[in-house]
Amino acid sequence: MSLLPEAEVVRKDLERDAVGRRVAAVTVQSPALVARGGNPDLAGALTGRRITAVDRRGVHLVLDLEGGQSLVVRSGEHGTLTVGPVEEGAARHLQLVATLDKGGALRYVDSGEDAEFLVVPTAEVAALPELSKGGIDPLAETFTWTAFGKELVRRDLALKTLLADPSFVVGLGDRYSDEVLWGAGLAGRRSSSKLSAQEVRRLYRSLLEVLQDAVKHRAAAETEASEDADDADDADPEPVGWLKVWNREGLPCARCRQRIRYGEVVEGQPSYHCANCQT
Ligand SMILES: [Zn+2]
Repeated sequence: MSLLPEAEVVRKDLERDAVGRRVAAVTVQSPALVARGGNPDLAGALTGRRITAVDRRGVHLVLDLEGGQSLVVRSGEHGTLTVGPVEEGAARHLQLVATLDKGGALRYVDSGEDAEFLVVPTAEVAALPELSKGGIDPLAETFTWTAFGKELVRRDLALKTLLADPSFVVGLGDRYSDEVLWGAGLAGRRSSSKLSAQEVRRLYRSLLEVLQDAVKHRAAAETEASEDADDADDADPEPVGWLKVWNREGLPCARCRQRIRYGEVVEGQPSYHCANCQT
């Protein structure tokens, strides 16, 4: 859930399936979840409380609880939070289960140990340094292409470097920065300060379209599931149909039919791209 569309899909799911429900029981399987200044008694802080609202701050989730407390889920890079039937079998890397009243359970699965769950007074959530304002969140805020263009000029970096930087736009990562560049027909090595007005508009439009499309396709559900198939964490995931370049090396470009390449367009940042139609 370090990617923005993934986090938005989870927020929507929780809003639909968890708000109004009460936490009946909590099992914390991974001590690391509460190790860094969180609540040692996370289960005690959650049990019996009703979830009243779900909000998203960048890629992190905030579940408001009755009684003026909030559960902050600072997800790890490979973490997924789901809400589903209580009888679902045990998953690998299951770190937390919160059973809800009237059936259903929240599950947090993560192969890493960099996630954090903490319960804090709702009034203090905004002041948490982890949740302080990062880059632009195109799914939550309105910004104009002209403001976007000014920031591109001010930053003056290779497009791939800039798009993958969460202090510019939250949660695009490698996957969506490659998709945004392909959608705009722009090469990742291009300097952000040297785009024409037309190119800025193309990049802006592609950014919004890629994110909205990813949410529509339930980003996490269709990509993480294929990544986690098999036991081999290192295995290459299967190409995902609705993504245009990511993980599609050697397959034909949907626009010009040349083969998609995977390689460095900027030093140290390999990218999926079409060398023919991204210029
Ligand atoms: Zn192409």
